Amino acid sequence: MNLPNVKNIIPVASGKGGVGKSTVSANLALALAKAGAKVGLMDADVYGPSIPTLLGITAKPESKDGRVLPVEKYGIKVISMGFFMPPNEAVIWRGPMLNKMIQDFLSVVDWGELDYLVVDLPPGTGDVQLSLCQSISLTGAVIVSTPQEVAWNVAQKAIVMFDKLNTPVLGIIENMSHYICGHCGESEEIFGKGGTENAAKRLETPFLGSIPLVKAISASSDQGDPLVYADPDSPSARQFTEIAGNLLKQLELRRTQGDKKIAPLEISPAGGSEISILWNDGKSSRFVPRELRLLCPCAGCVNEISGQRTLNPQTVPTDVKASAISKVGRYALHIQWSDGHNTGIYGFEYLRNHAA
Ligand code: ADP
Repeated sequence: MNLPNVKNIIPVASGKGGVGKSTVSANLALALAKAGAKVGLMDADVYGPSIPTLLGITAKPESKDGRVLPVEKYGIKVISMGFFMPPNEAVIWRGPMLNKMIQDFLSVVDWGELDYLVVDLPPGTGDVQLSLCQSISLTGAVIVSTPQEVAWNVAQKAIVMFDKLNTPVLGIIENMSHYICGHCGESEEIFGKGGTENAAKRLETPFLGSIPLVKAISASSDQGDPLVYADPDSPSARQFTEIAGNLLKQLELRRTQGDKKIAPLEISPAGGSEISILWNDGKSSRFVPRELRLLCPCAGCVNEISGQRTLNPQTVPTDVKASAISKVGRYALHIQWSDGHNTGIYGFEYLRNHAA
């Protein structure tokens, strides 16, 4: 399928539900519109379509000449499953129905000319994501995660999914990064600082910015009056605007430079006395297995926040070998070691920078 009048289609995804993906999608769409772009917002979060509430939309879309006209609010065009379902009704659909919804949202809805169509996906890596990626060429996905390790671990799966489906990941946004008290304004890093940004670095994926946990965001969303529109000069609205700017920079980079990602062409078989990688630019990297084991960048071997190495080298056998090496999408290698350690994901750039 092709939408010739829509220049960029940008899905917003998360691993887990409740991380603020819809809040980010709506405010991001509004920030892009405020910057002068023509923006559509497709709420494909079929299991919990919250965009109509977030934008305070009560009108239903109208049809004209057999096509559905999106509802316009705050300068953006919106379509949502929520428009077509009775309130409090649950969607229990199998893959083909979800695929049909995606097809209709793309082809029956009359989006007109758009610079950006932001798609709010359901959480996880299911049928909707698959249908969307397989139906139309997507510009690139944005991943939303909260800083907790469990959330990030699941978000990582979403990154790998997009990668497998050949959809570039434009960047990662950390939501609820820290709590700002509504009374005294004090900021508290409840889940530690910089976890998502460091994780994004490890995966060599752009970090687009972070948004604090503040009452103003949830209150304005509950009232259907999203912050970027309701209070554009507030600190959090400015953060959404800055993130939209960073997203535009990433789009521009891709447009001018293309996708020049470094990738391995050949990897030596696991179990050898050397690990060698031949890269797609002709360079090669070689490692003594134990040295690469000691360089493991996982959270068990490096303190996520301080970056300090916590692995005690004396615990690693001198003859440790890789027992399995596999690619993690277009970003990294996962190495399972003979000492039982198997959480190491080594980014391609990381491997290149640390090769002998
Ligand atoms: P998701 O789409 O990931 O399920 P939502 O965007 O629906 O998540 O957000 C879940 C809840 O968290 C909503 O009540 C929303 O208002 C609130 N929320 C999201 N982000 C923030 C934030 N940064 N600060 C305060 N509340 C937030």
